[in-house]
Amino acid sequence: MTYVIVGNCINDTACVDVCPVDCIHPAPNEIGFKTADMLFIDPKFCIDCNACAEACPIDAVMPAHKLPKHFRHYQAINAEYSIARLK
Ligand code: SF4
Ligand code: SF4
Repeated sequence: MTYVIVGNCINDTACVDVCPVDCIHPAPNEIGFKTADMLFIDPKFCIDCNACAEACPIDAVMPAHKLPKHFRHYQAINAEYSIARLK
């Protein structure tokens, strides 16, 4: 399982600050942060701790299995970003 960030993310980095495994990108010190429309969770490293969901001020992050239908495509968007950033 993994957590997923959905498109109404406001890039305030509250989730980045609390993630124990640093699997939310781009972080403020990484390439692409200033131009990113949203942040993304790498499903390979997410340990499902829920810290990001608790920290997010606008409920823009949630467990993949609880994504409402209109947000389900964001699971693939988060995963694809995570693969692309390591190439
Ligand atoms: S659930 Fe935990 S490990 Fe996964 S992205 Fe959120 S804070 Fe990081
Ligand atoms: S805490 Fe929420 S709004 Fe802020 S960067 Fe993370 S997912 Fe986006």
